[in-house]
Amino acid sequence: MIEFYPIVTGPLGENCYLVWKDSKAWIIDPGTDAEEIIAELENRHLEPVSILLTHGHFDHLGALDTLLTKWPQLPVVMREEDVEWAFTHAFNQYPPFYMHQKRPETLVMAGDAYTCGGISARLLHTPGHTPGGQCILIEREDGSSLCFTGDTLFRGSIGRTDLPGGSFLQLNRSLKFLAETLAPETTVLAGHEEPSTIAWELKHNPYLRGEEDF
Ligand SMILES: [Zn+2]
Repeated sequence: MIEFYPIVTGPLGENCYLVWKDSKAWIIDPGTDAEEIIAELENRHLEPVSILLTHGHFDHLGALDTLLTKWPQLPVVMREEDVEWAFTHAFNQYPPFYMHQKRPETLVMAGDAYTCGGISARLLHTPGHTPGGQCILIEREDGSSLCFTGDTLFRGSIGRTDLPGGSFLQLNRSLKFLAETLAPETTVLAGHEEPSTIAWELKHNPYLRGEEDF
């Protein structure tokens, strides 16, 4: 059975998620606190096989350098639109807590799907918070689904669009796409704060209900 565990990292409370099947693990959004991520992997006897990023913001990828020093072969899966600025743009750091990370040599440009270590995901391009934002949708063996939404969709809220590359219009379209694509029972695991479900969001989140005029 595919399992997951959240680790809240850094001063901005970013959710890093470990997702694993048997002993092979994905690391989704290693925000910072690399030592804690490594310790959790070791405690659970997990071997990391991939890092996936929902988007390129500094608070989601701040542990990359340390993780890639320890495991230089780990593929880093993110969308090309965010690769273009994430490792170089002046705004994408927050000294002294988050500094620019090196552009990984193991970058994998995300397509529509990704499989590694016996885990498969659909990668849903959901621009708006950033141009290369993506939601990572994993269907488990029992038919239940997990969707890692990054900063696109939060419990009762949505990500900001006032940072470079953000777009109200695109985020609105992405939310409509999620509402149409994801089953109501889907568990929503966002980049910050608490988990939710699509059913709960459709009932309580005015942005996902399409009630907010962008
Ligand atoms: Zn963000």
